Amino acid sequence: MRKKKREIVMDFQAILEEIHKEIQDVLLDGKVADYIPKLAAVPLDKFGMAVQTLDGDLFTIGDAAENFSIQSISKAYTLILALQFIGEDRLWKRVGREPSGNPFNSLVQLEYEHGIPRNPFINAGALVIVDIILSNSKNPGQTLLDFVRQRSDNPGIGFDNEVAASEKKTGFRNSALANFLKSYGNLENDVDSVLEAYFLQCSLSMNCIDLAKSLMMLTNHGLSPWSGEQILTKSQAKRINSLMLTCGTYDAVGDFAYRVGLPGKSGIGGGIAAFIPGKLSVCVWSPGLNSNGNSLAGTLALELFTTKTGMSIF
Ligand code: GLU
Repeated sequence: MRKKKREIVMDFQAILEEIHKEIQDVLLDGKVADYIPKLAAVPLDKFGMAVQTLDGDLFTIGDAAENFSIQSISKAYTLILALQFIGEDRLWKRVGREPSGNPFNSLVQLEYEHGIPRNPFINAGALVIVDIILSNSKNPGQTLLDFVRQRSDNPGIGFDNEVAASEKKTGFRNSALANFLKSYGNLENDVDSVLEAYFLQCSLSMNCIDLAKSLMMLTNHGLSPWSGEQILTKSQAKRINSLMLTCGTYDAVGDFAYRVGLPGKSGIGGGIAAFIPGKLSVCVWSPGLNSNGNSLAGTLALELFTTKTGMSIF
């Protein structure tokens, strides 16, 4: 006898409302990133979340439409662009794909691994990736903006030049990393141009809705559900999701995978973008960070989301 397929309709809006209530207790427990002065001024009590399903439904709660500094989440876009420019064989000669087990801005590992960063999501790796974009685009900032605007269908997305300038003033570690990479021959362009492009990409100002929409190709096996374009091959989309699962949330990646069970990329602006391939993208923002640099309330919200919905990749 054939079993009748039972459609389970998930009330995502009700779930987001529950989560919003339940994270209130920890909302003020995190600490905003203060090594970039402009980010230190963001109020701790912000919280937003957006769920974009492949069926085309969007659910939001709280400050989901408020812009914030996406910081390292931009490393997902630049990796996609670099893959489009030079392909996998050439890219993986210059960057590894193992978790770093070290802080995202660590210098030590880069030295004993002779200038090949562990993965594209730590700062050293992202500097190599943006160097690839610089070598292949006359205007890397515009290339990135065009990509993000098109993918999220929001022509209003821009960089926050004050954040970029603020980071430039205090970006001594990134500058050290870029100089190290150059000394090992792993940067083609000059150090200053690479740093400029890197600070600019990190300053992208977006909201949870933009983020969830713009990365739907990772949910949809490489295909944009909006334009029908194949942005990545199916295999590349799988690989980027795998990299996020193993390297996307700093050196707390094991704890994040344990609690949340989804591939995701976080940023020190307090955003996290996560994916359930074949189903949905879910993005959260809350600027208070835990000791590993992931949004404290954001991680809890995603944990609650996968627990309450019973949806994860496992
Ligand atoms: N612009 C930040 C930095 O390079 C990004 C860090 C992050 O979000 O992980 O330090």
